[in-house]
Amino acid sequence: MKWISDLIDLILPRYCAVCGTILSPSEQDLCLNCLCQLPRIDSTRMQEIEKLFWGIIPVERAASYIYYQKGSPYNNLLHLIKYKNHPDTATRLATAAAQELKENGFFEGIDAIIALPLSKKKERKRGYNQCDYIAKGLSAVSGIPVLKGCVQRTIANETQTHKSREERWSNVEGIFSITNPDALQGKHLLLIDDVLTTGATIASCAKSITALPHTRVSLFTLAYSHSRI
Ligand SMILES: [Zn+2]
Repeated sequence: MKWISDLIDLILPRYCAVCGTILSPSEQDLCLNCLCQLPRIDSTRMQEIEKLFWGIIPVERAASYIYYQKGSPYNNLLHLIKYKNHPDTATRLATAAAQELKENGFFEGIDAIIALPLSKKKERKRGYNQCDYIAKGLSAVSGIPVLKGCVQRTIANETQTHKSREERWSNVEGIFSITNPDALQGKHLLLIDDVLTTGATIASCAKSITALPHTRVSLFTLAYSHSRI
């Protein structure tokens, strides 16, 4: 009911994640002004993302939504999603991204969505996996089911900040294991991660999956950045 949300806004005002102004009842996460200026991934960046995987892993389609630059106030969105217990923000952003992707035929032929798992220890500590919330938004718009419990993160990869590109790629070899190959075999799967930097983590998962017969992968990340956030 609208009067309830208006009242809640009055007592507990919500703030724009980027500029900090008070949100109106119709705004979510971002004020209209910041939403309009959201640094979106354009077609040049989209090609850049696809190229990350060339010669490494066969990827059917790859897309991302927000471009993160070091020091940008928009980085706060991801901070909220990952560290401040606001995973629903991820669902809302993924829903907006999915509406556009759907128009471009991105979801055609995809059988199921898989959110990249966190290590059990990390998920316990955070209380949730933000990738599940991204997957939820994509699934709601596309109607494609989310498959859970088919992939496991067996090694929690350490921070990659000071590693070279080559080191980052070898550092993530075999960090995922397939726990339910029958559910994945023969399918076109959309893998979801929160942020794409070198692409090494999501490629490692894609590698484990495409080792299964007749399996194809596409990729979606909520954000893309040249540098770690
Ligand atoms: Zn704002």
